[in-house]
Amino acid sequence: MTGDDEAAAPASGPLLDPAAFARVPGQVDTGDHGAHARGIFDVELLDRCISCGFCLPVCPTYALDKDEQSSPRGRITLMRALESGRLEPDDPVLQHEASYCLGCRACETVCPAGVEYGPMLEQWRDHQWRAGHGPRLARWLRWAVERRAMLRLSGLVRRFARTRGPVSDASPHVMLGCAERALFPSVSRAAVSLVPGADAPAEQGCCGALHAHNGDSAGGRAMAERLGQDLPGTIVTTSGGCAAHVAEHLGRDRVAEISDYLTRTGWAPAGRLMTTGADGKPRPVRVSLQDSCHLRNGLGVSGQPRELLERIAEYVEAPSAASCCGAAGSYSMLRPRDSKRVLAPKLDEIEQLGVDYVVAVNPGCLLQLKQGLLARRSRVKAVHLVELLIRAA
Ligand code: SF4
Ligand code: SF4
Repeated sequence: MTGDDEAAAPASGPLLDPAAFARVPGQVDTGDHGAHARGIFDVELLDRCISCGFCLPVCPTYALDKDEQSSPRGRITLMRALESGRLEPDDPVLQHEASYCLGCRACETVCPAGVEYGPMLEQWRDHQWRAGHGPRLARWLRWAVERRAMLRLSGLVRRFARTRGPVSDASPHVMLGCAERALFPSVSRAAVSLVPGADAPAEQGCCGALHAHNGDSAGGRAMAERLGQDLPGTIVTTSGGCAAHVAEHLGRDRVAEISDYLTRTGWAPAGRLMTTGADGKPRPVRVSLQDSCHLRNGLGVSGQPRELLERIAEYVEAPSAASCCGAAGSYSMLRPRDSKRVLAPKLDEIEQLGVDYVVAVNPGCLLQLKQGLLARRSRVKAVHLVELLIRAA
């Protein structure tokens, strides 16, 4: 699939001189949006950036191109230019950068000024991709995940983990997701088995994260609130991206990503996973983790999946585990070439680790890693965390 927005990217070279819009490094922006502010952004958020550049080394798109406008600081400069009217929304650089950004929020984790890049990117895309202006594929994906009957049918075909009976707020509810119930139904089946007393009500829709990240944050909020009504009480999810989105709208106390839930409730395996080594002798299974960006950078959950993996296998940390794999929600479909550019060095690294499995905590990352490793005919397999935990339970 070719992303129409990717195809429309500027051919080469900067079309915008960032220096023309830059703040003095170290100087707090007092906001020259003033009377000319267009009201696209929360200006208080926009003004927090002090242009220090600490975020550049952690940005995956800046790492690819070493181009200021494809860095967090450069994109915030573009947002300010859009807000103040110095750039029009159809400016090709604005269009390119609004979709080229992965939305991984790695920039937030190192920012000394407390810039909340995630909400600003949502506001940017709400405007940049407003009715009829965004990538066609993003619009189609939003339309598709709103169709509850279609989600239910796709899940039924794949024997998704659904339970019957009344939905009580006393039980934890496993969230089935939109893509996961069709692509990886074994993941939610394993989650239901791992969480004592859990149910998985069939009548639940998509959480709306895809909307929020693709130009319709109001729709994303409404879908999260409806999910909260479908699943009263605690919601347990196997998707790091969905966990961050739902927690933002329903509150952190309503939502638990599964590794967080299992470590808090004291899950213990029956034993460790073993395999046969090259010498024919038994050895522990060797695993490595690929973080979910929104789980790590949005919710601050990163130690929990590692802790669980160390209980069942020999854990090997990959140097770039915390950096985006290029899946980034719908990014791998909207910008397939850039998604593969981000993924390639990570796969090289994973193959050099000598592990049996690379473990994902998000269905998008799982699909991305599976496809990448399959294309290389790699001996390393990609699995979801719960698929390994259930084997050790
Ligand atoms: S680290 Fe924060 S304040 Fe510094 S340039 Fe990046 S976003 Fe702006
Ligand atoms: S969200 Fe990720 S890709 Fe986008 S600017 Fe921040 S670090 Fe770079």
